[in-house]
Amino acid sequence: MTRIYLSPPEVGPDERAMMLAAFDSNWIAPLGPDVDAFESELAHRVGVAHAAALSSGTAALHLALLQLGVGPGDEVVVPSFTFVATANAVKYLGAEPVFIDSHPDTWTIDPALVADELAERARRGNLPKAVVTVDLYGQSADYDPLLEICAHHDIPLVADAAEALGATYRGRPCGSMGRAAIFSFNGNKIITTSGGGMLVSDDPELVERTRFLATQAREPFPHYEHTTVGYNYRLSNLLAALGRAQLRGLDSHIERRRAINRRYRDALGELSGVAFMPTADYGEPNYWLTCITIDPERFGANREAVRQALERENIEARPTWKPLHLQPVFAGRPMRGGAVTEAIFDQGLCLPSGSALTTGDQDRVTGIIASLARPA
Ligand SMILES: *Cc1c(COP(=O)(O)O)cnc(C)c1O
Repeated sequence: MTRIYLSPPEVGPDERAMMLAAFDSNWIAPLGPDVDAFESELAHRVGVAHAAALSSGTAALHLALLQLGVGPGDEVVVPSFTFVATANAVKYLGAEPVFIDSHPDTWTIDPALVADELAERARRGNLPKAVVTVDLYGQSADYDPLLEICAHHDIPLVADAAEALGATYRGRPCGSMGRAAIFSFNGNKIITTSGGGMLVSDDPELVERTRFLATQAREPFPHYEHTTVGYNYRLSNLLAALGRAQLRGLDSHIERRRAINRRYRDALGELSGVAFMPTADYGEPNYWLTCITIDPERFGANREAVRQALERENIEARPTWKPLHLQPVFAGRPMRGGAVTEAIFDQGLCLPSGSALTTGDQDRVTGIIASLARPA
């Protein structure tokens, strides 16, 4: 049986043609016409004024927080329920994350807990330098209350939309809210450049300075002149060409992942003890990954038993992100709440969701899961 991966890249003749065209043009460099075009096409798609193509989503987060003035001794509010990159970018700057639990109805950062955290810190004169939200598994965070809370305390919000390209919040694209937002084009994301990212913002200076910092902070002199520490974070022109072709296919990727989500619901939705990640009524996800929770008492087997049964059949499924406040690398950091993310981690499983997943392969996945359910 060929292995079924969680979220493999899907590329075709368009990607091949555009990448070879970039190759043949001899723009084999981290700058070039495809980078410029990828930036403007992605900005247009997301409804923001400016975008800077970078080597990863993590690099984009790093440069976003750097430019908001996050530095040694500062604190940044982040959700606990996310990929580690969200908090690693905080640590790169010598700052520390402050973790917040998720809302059970969305699995994204709980706005009421963010409000409590900021109010308490305002009283202590100890406000964080920024708030980072995460549009989890392709579902938007609840931006109206989050933006209002941040504005009240005059704290910038950065949206980690790494997983959410193409998703919306009340009709607004994910990535168009906050001071800046970031996307990832890692190999497992909804579109890929094999590796890459983007920082987007309506602020032209922030994006222009991102490009400057990402090219070793080279000052405009004929010789190499540097007055600040820079980074080597630009996306290569070859990979930008790949990204442009992928972006053209984004809507079809979303449509197929949505269909996969619907088929999982049809096949598993009636099983006792199986629940799907809730879909918030305020937006439209991009269905990057379909995630379920498995209540062992009602289902008859626990999440790990299900994951291992799939693995034995050469099917990759993964536990949902382990909450960052439980990660040894962040031991001792403050956490507000925690019961919601801990319960999801205990029972959560991400199912194969790649846009090229065939119905036959999906039937294999659902057949194995259903076979483990306790007979009704
Ligand atoms: C993938 C991801 C990132 C990091 O993106 P890279 O391009 O892999 O650096 C950051 N945050 C979240 C939530 C992600 O899923």
